[in-house]
Amino acid sequence: MKYKHYNIHNYISIPQIKKISPKQRHDLEVIAKVLPFKTNNYVVEQLIDWDNIEFDPLYRMNFFQRGMLTDKHFNMLESEINVGGSKKSLDRLIKDIRYQLNPDPSGQMMYNVPEFKGEKLMGIQHKYKETILFFPTQGQSCHAYCTFCFRWPQFSNMKSQKFFMKETGLLTGYLKEHPEVTDLLFTGGDPMIMSSRHFETYVNAVLEADLPNLKNIRIGTKALSYWPYRFVSDPDSDHLLSLFRKIVDSGKHLAVMANFNHPRELYTDIFKVAVKNIQNTGAIIRGQSPILNNINADADVWADLWKKQVEKGIIPYYMFMPRDTGAQHYFAVPLIEAWKIYTRAYSKVSGIARTVRGPVMSANPGKIKVLGVSDFFDEKVITLNFIQARNTNWINKPFFARYDESALWLNDLKPAFGKREFFFERSFRSLQTEKKHRVGTLDNYSSLCS
Ligand SMILES: *Cc1c(COP(=O)(O)O)cnc(C)c1O
Ligand code: SF4
Repeated sequence: MKYKHYNIHNYISIPQIKKISPKQRHDLEVIAKVLPFKTNNYVVEQLIDWDNIEFDPLYRMNFFQRGMLTDKHFNMLESEINVGGSKKSLDRLIKDIRYQLNPDPSGQMMYNVPEFKGEKLMGIQHKYKETILFFPTQGQSCHAYCTFCFRWPQFSNMKSQKFFMKETGLLTGYLKEHPEVTDLLFTGGDPMIMSSRHFETYVNAVLEADLPNLKNIRIGTKALSYWPYRFVSDPDSDHLLSLFRKIVDSGKHLAVMANFNHPRELYTDIFKVAVKNIQNTGAIIRGQSPILNNINADADVWADLWKKQVEKGIIPYYMFMPRDTGAQHYFAVPLIEAWKIYTRAYSKVSGIARTVRGPVMSANPGKIKVLGVSDFFDEKVITLNFIQARNTNWINKPFFARYDESALWLNDLKPAFGKREFFFERSFRSLQTEKKHRVGTLDNYSSLCS
């Protein structure tokens, strides 16, 4: 199959376009002024159930729904479009709304970027000791755009928000200087959108650099769901698979971190072939997804997702909480609700599928897991712990927040037992002041795929 993508300018040529009502098209076009829209012929032809688009999770994953913008923003945009004012005033409004959707408009992204030989590495995030995230320049888009994604500043031409690099010398130089790093994670966007020729440049640089401490190479991708042909029949698929084999043959672990949001993504014939081709190289596929209202906030859906992964030899890895950005009001699931769904789904599968960690907030201090709700004498609390943290001393120490059914994110939580703050907060504050260049709010800029 030849890749064909649809954006807001050509989506009208989608064969099933008649199934989208004029009202839905209007809503889509208004929202697409602010958030990026893109889908492709595979998603349209093989994933979406066109007879049920009003409720179809796969449709909602790529096509905007009215509720994805708040009434206030939607109405402002709609009336600006209706009055037909100047392009300049519409652009100003679009920019305003985007900044309001973005929790980190203050340009603090610079603070989290590591330095090498006095230079800021704009395409690397090094937050946790063992793992660096690498954003290759050519991997900063995707085969289709998820409506829940918070990478929208990258896709929306907000230049100041873009984050990438392509200098392999800086990457390997940084890795040499940081022997504590065991994992290199290619992320984006989707690094599997880049040509095999580009990917080869990075792979060769890393393998030739002789980095004995680097054990694991991970690739965060949604291509298995949105374009499995990438691993089967694209003109450079064989080249890509040969690079996977090359990584494995070099003795490193190759982990394909696949983003799956709904089990239906795992049922097509081409998906099965893609999985086999990847596994035949010796790579291991792991699955992860955010829990999303209106898409997958249901225990049966998660149990099916994990079971289907195990059936295909894929290891369930993370259930994430969606972050407070973009269309979060549409997708947000409260922490306690997510924990209940996780627990119900976990109870439905055997131990082999219980490798998944969740629900997890990828928050500024670290990755925080909701362990559950507990009763201590007469106080009901939420128990949490860090599975990954900026300060390794915080890891795996249970801590307690006041019971709150509406809390969506760490900053909605208050310490339990009348404490003024959580155990890590003092140390987190001093990290923030001491190492300003390392500790910022960049969390919001890593993709949901990885
Ligand atoms: C999640 C994440 C990682 C990887 O954590 P693992 O627990 O090793 O999967 C690395 N860096 C950042 C910034 C992350 O958010
Ligand atoms: S969630 Fe992943 S695949 Fe989806 S648009 Fe964002 S980066 Fe791309």
